[in-house]
Amino acid sequence: MKYQSTRNASITNSSTAAVLQGLADDGGLFITKEFSGFDWRGTLELSTFGMAEKILGALLPDFDDMHELVRRAYTGKFETDELTPLVKVGDRYILELFRGPTSAFKDVALSMLPQLITAARTQEGVTDEILILTATSGDTGKAALAGFRDVPGTKIIVFYPDEGVSKVQKAQMVTQEGGNVCVCAVRGNFDDTQTGVKAIFAAGVPAGCGVRLSSANSINIGRLAPQVVYYFKAYADLLCEGRIAAGEPVDYVVPTGNFGDILAGYLAKKMGLPVGKLICASNRNDVLTDFLRTGTYDRRRPFYKTLSPSMDILVSSNLERLLYLMCENEAEVADYMRALNEGGAYTVSAAMLEKLHAEFGYGCCDDEETKAAIGRVWKAHGYLMDTHTAVAWKVAEDYESDKPVVVLSTASPYKFPTAVLSAIGGDVRGDEFEIMDRLHDLTGVPVPQGLATLRTKEVRHTDVIDRDAMQAYVLGKIAHWK
Ligand SMILES: *Cc1c(COP(=O)(O)O)cnc(C)c1O
Repeated sequence: MKYQSTRNASITNSSTAAVLQGLADDGGLFITKEFSGFDWRGTLELSTFGMAEKILGALLPDFDDMHELVRRAYTGKFETDELTPLVKVGDRYILELFRGPTSAFKDVALSMLPQLITAARTQEGVTDEILILTATSGDTGKAALAGFRDVPGTKIIVFYPDEGVSKVQKAQMVTQEGGNVCVCAVRGNFDDTQTGVKAIFAAGVPAGCGVRLSSANSINIGRLAPQVVYYFKAYADLLCEGRIAAGEPVDYVVPTGNFGDILAGYLAKKMGLPVGKLICASNRNDVLTDFLRTGTYDRRRPFYKTLSPSMDILVSSNLERLLYLMCENEAEVADYMRALNEGGAYTVSAAMLEKLHAEFGYGCCDDEETKAAIGRVWKAHGYLMDTHTAVAWKVAEDYESDKPVVVLSTASPYKFPTAVLSAIGGDVRGDEFEIMDRLHDLTGVPVPQGLATLRTKEVRHTDVIDRDAMQAYVLGKIAHWK
């Protein structure tokens, strides 16, 4: 099986090389078109770890010992060995993806990615250490730190905007333990931080320094593949509980930002899982809703800060992989991406739009509707949702599917306590930790352990630098670590 660049099918790589490299040389993303022959029925009978081993083994066939990699990635790290429990709420099902070490769905992928990267490093005969550089607006940074902590052969530096993350998110990062981790605030906003990291990637590190740079974001196929597993797991749970008959299609509603999560659902469908519609839920940044409705992707629009910040995004990178899987000829995707880069917009062919409508639903909602959904579900069902999940729930309500519906839940409500407490009518005075306490007192919903212990943990990372100093900072760390 070969991985190809979305912009040029003649650029190919093995799955190990694709994971190690991240982005293809021409700027495209690695993806495969070979999904047939997968034993999806047999997979549904396995344990969660067994499913992960089998699905990842099929998607990333060049890894020598997937059994061991899965074991190392997940053993004892999640609240349950099921990893991602399914909960019935009213007439729908909520797939809880936030039961990992940092209470965000990114844990599912970022627990696995370090194992894949280090195994690929060994198999590809690379002796350089892998240095992960990440700019974060909150969730990704902490999940990446937890995933890469003390993984041999790797180091990680996370930059976060001094004025751009919540108090809880900051506390999660600056208390991170581990001998190979480094966390640094950058004066400015998220864009400043991200621009700084991109510049470091563009400049590279000195030859012979013994370090190779890599990224932990969802352009890496090694971060996408682990997300396919929970679509199978949710389906298996429905079957096991007698909620559906074997082969019956199920709709999945996905709170979407960079399009990684929902694309994993599409890969699950390609592998045979009876997925009905994949419903793409957006907040007020509704570029994907417009695209799926009209076929025109236009990023020339205002950017809104919302209560679901992980979905505040105007260019969803992984959409490129979907277009590649659906296109008639590969020049098509390269043309769309060129138009997007040069003019900020593209329009897909009528044939492509028809295919999109056959597979995807869509919908969006604003902050008021998000909060109303949290309040409504709490009142009617006693289930507490975070703001991202609430966007998906509201879109699910509007969509009126005639099939069983699974709503993906991507964060613990305690990661966004102010918005959640205010949505259920609580008093939001005081700092975020006080608000977490009040949310707990009011609802009785347990605070995830990683968040509950935060305020007493030792602060280990206090560096604050200017954007211009980021590159020197990284080089200094490389020299110091040697
Ligand atoms: C990252 C994230 C999303 C969006 O997922 P994509 O794969 O980028 O579409 C949704 N909700 C939360 C809480 C996230 O952290």
